[in-house]
Amino acid sequence: MAERYDLVVIGAGPGGYVAAIRAAQLGMKVACVEKRATLGGVCLNIGCIPSKALLDSSEYYHLAAAKFARHGIKVSGLEIDLPTMHKRKDGVVKGLTDGVAYLFKKNKITPVFGAARLVSGTAVQVAGNDGKTIDLEAGHVLLATGSAPINLPFMPFDGKTIVSSTEALAFDKVPEHLLVVGGGAIGLELGSVWNRLGAKVTVVEFLPRIVPSSDFEIGEHLRKSLRKQGLEILTETKVTGAEVDKAGRAKVAAEDKDGKALTFDADKVLVSVGRRAYSEGLGLAEVGVEVDPKSGKVPVDKYFRTNVPTVSAIGDLIAGPMLAHKAEDEGVAFAELLAGKPGHVDYDTIPNVVYTWPELASVGQTEEQLKEKGVEYRVGKSAFMANGRAKAMDETEGMVKLLADARTDRLLGAHIVGPRASDLIAELVTVMEFGGSSEDVARTCHAHPTLSEAVKEAALAVDKRSISA
Ligand code: FAD
Repeated sequence: MAERYDLVVIGAGPGGYVAAIRAAQLGMKVACVEKRATLGGVCLNIGCIPSKALLDSSEYYHLAAAKFARHGIKVSGLEIDLPTMHKRKDGVVKGLTDGVAYLFKKNKITPVFGAARLVSGTAVQVAGNDGKTIDLEAGHVLLATGSAPINLPFMPFDGKTIVSSTEALAFDKVPEHLLVVGGGAIGLELGSVWNRLGAKVTVVEFLPRIVPSSDFEIGEHLRKSLRKQGLEILTETKVTGAEVDKAGRAKVAAEDKDGKALTFDADKVLVSVGRRAYSEGLGLAEVGVEVDPKSGKVPVDKYFRTNVPTVSAIGDLIAGPMLAHKAEDEGVAFAELLAGKPGHVDYDTIPNVVYTWPELASVGQTEEQLKEKGVEYRVGKSAFMANGRAKAMDETEGMVKLLADARTDRLLGAHIVGPRASDLIAELVTVMEFGGSSEDVARTCHAHPTLSEAVKEAALAVDKRSISA
């Protein structure tokens, strides 16, 4: 007989596992099905966490190789030990995925390992990883199956030379020439890792700019910084095909904006042109759950319900930015709504970060979006060059840029390129979440000397009363 649960979650990524924990906290009997051998989804296993582990390791190497001398530290015999770097990364991943297993135990959530398929709106069948079939009955089913990398049909992934981020997180030697197709967060982060470790890296982007969703000025700043670090970045260039020879080297064909043919010889090609919602094998069509055929996303209402009322969806599988923290917030909001409580995600204040160095972090609207909407705004900028802590760190690249409503001073957007932008953005997310103004930031005491003073200076600059510029 099928085991009965109040909630069966399919997918144990940041959306699914967080929803499972919150639902259990609210008194529900919960099972979470995951087809991978470990919990944590793309984020913990092959996404956010291993990429940041490699970004941090490679940044340390880069600091030792290129920056320590300026601090009066001499290093000799500096070497990369790639197996140890990967081992440390794997250890970080294991610590966190084991942590989710511990949280499941603590919250009495039943993990079920295998591929789940809907049999009806309240029944799930799992082809267990151990070969057994498990039937689950549920008051409600949550789909949190995430996304998968987009494959270019004219140069499909082969797992060796033409690869996705998953393989690029685990190269067993530093590539000679890594060609990155796509200038978004994943391509730039992994391009940075291997560039720092010694690879020649070329990024080819179809659009006129990298990180296309960012504020233009801030994105351009990042482009210049990355170029200075040695990444070759070609925009308005379209990759058209690739041939891989017997030795595993690729000849990649591309075309620039004037139609001029280009060829690249690369030993690794990372295709990072985006991700597509993943709902294969879930039996959605059979049960009548609608899927948008173009995007692969599952449409939901404001309670995260699909057109089948006992089936909900969250995370990368539904509309909105494909980000772990967005999936997590949806997981919490979904569980609270299911329990009859108020649950809410403010989609206007979801921060977006690119973990290159300098980092790029933003929240809210860009200057281009405000112009397009005809919103009158004031701009305040502050360069890290004028920040005492940035000077002490020898990390003076970049700036903070704030956009405030010209009439009310309400903060409409915040964009940072610079050291630890990923941490600095949190203050501005909070202010925006409270409907705060640039004056609120300007009148808040910021510790000295900290990078966060650049945020305060940018807020003062909105009213043209910056102290240190
Ligand atoms: P996922 O994390 O994709 O989890 C879905 C899970 O469902 C998977 O484990 C899958 O195995 C399982 N599943 C699928 N189908 C079934 C089935 N039928 N039965 C059972 N299980 C199933 N986001 C950030 O916010 N910050 C970052 O720094 C960041 N870096 C990234 C770096 C890389 C290289 C990549 C690839 C992604 C990165 N992301 C980052 C994106 C982030 O990983 C995703 O937005 C996030 O994981 C989405 O969470 P999710 O819960 O919707 O789905």
